[in-house]
Amino acid sequence: MEEDIESVLDNYRSAGRILAEIREEAIGKVKEGSLLLEVAEFVETSIREKGAEPAFPCNISRNEEAAHATPSIDDETVFGTDLVKIDIGVHIDGYIGDSAVTVDLSGNCDALVRASEAALNEAIKIIRDGVSTVEIGEVIENTIRGQGYKPVVNLSGHGLIRYNSHAPPTIPNVRYEHGVILKENDVVAIEPFATDGTGKVVESGNPEIYSLTKAKPVRLREAKKLLEEIKNYQGLPFAKRWLPRERLDLALRTLKNTGALREYPVLREEEKGLISQAEHTVIVKKDGCEVTTKLSL
Ligand code: MN
Ligand code: MN
Repeated sequence: MEEDIESVLDNYRSAGRILAEIREEAIGKVKEGSLLLEVAEFVETSIREKGAEPAFPCNISRNEEAAHATPSIDDETVFGTDLVKIDIGVHIDGYIGDSAVTVDLSGNCDALVRASEAALNEAIKIIRDGVSTVEIGEVIENTIRGQGYKPVVNLSGHGLIRYNSHAPPTIPNVRYEHGVILKENDVVAIEPFATDGTGKVVESGNPEIYSLTKAKPVRLREAKKLLEEIKNYQGLPFAKRWLPRERLDLALRTLKNTGALREYPVLREEEKGLISQAEHTVIVKKDGCEVTTKLSL
């Protein structure tokens, strides 16, 4: 039976509300000398305590890193005078809220932080039934360039559908040729990235985040157990540090060799430029949009 649209949207709203509350608390914990792992675990534990589930591991990307960084098991890294992006995903019954914020511990990236925030706000203003993703990309690009920075061209916003944190359509951060028209009740995440670098990200380092794409039979006992465990995430990304430690590297490698896993290496600015990010999830409405991940006062 098709679930009725209002109860689906209510799940999106609840996930967004929980996310917004936790995001605001997490911002207060991002301090020079604090452990990244503590912030990530605070976010993920708080999500579960509020009766929801993480839609993906808490991403904590710093400086030239744009996305997909998350602490490893027993990670002892602490914040320095960093430009910190906290990206949080919350789901209820597969319905996802996705939102990110930049916290500037360096004290001199104010304008860069404001550039992605302004681009997000300007994009939200034009989103309504019938808007094209071309127009959204154009507004984001113009706003960021207008503040003297570059948009990151190979990162984009996206649709959200049940148990899919990166569904079509792509919402570009630049003006693009081929657009998709958004329609009422579409749920999309808008996420401008601004940089003082070249405006492109590349993959770097070993992934800490994975997702299950296609389960294939395996013989190794630990790999079998691991496969059962990660099926619980229903295709959503998970962190290596969430997994049982018993022969974990071997079990992960075994699954990887069957082609069952997608890896999410850290994405960083090509020329190590600094990157800021701002993100909200919105429900497209007839005459505007509803931001699900905004803090309601
Ligand atoms: Mn995000
Ligand atoms: Mn997103």
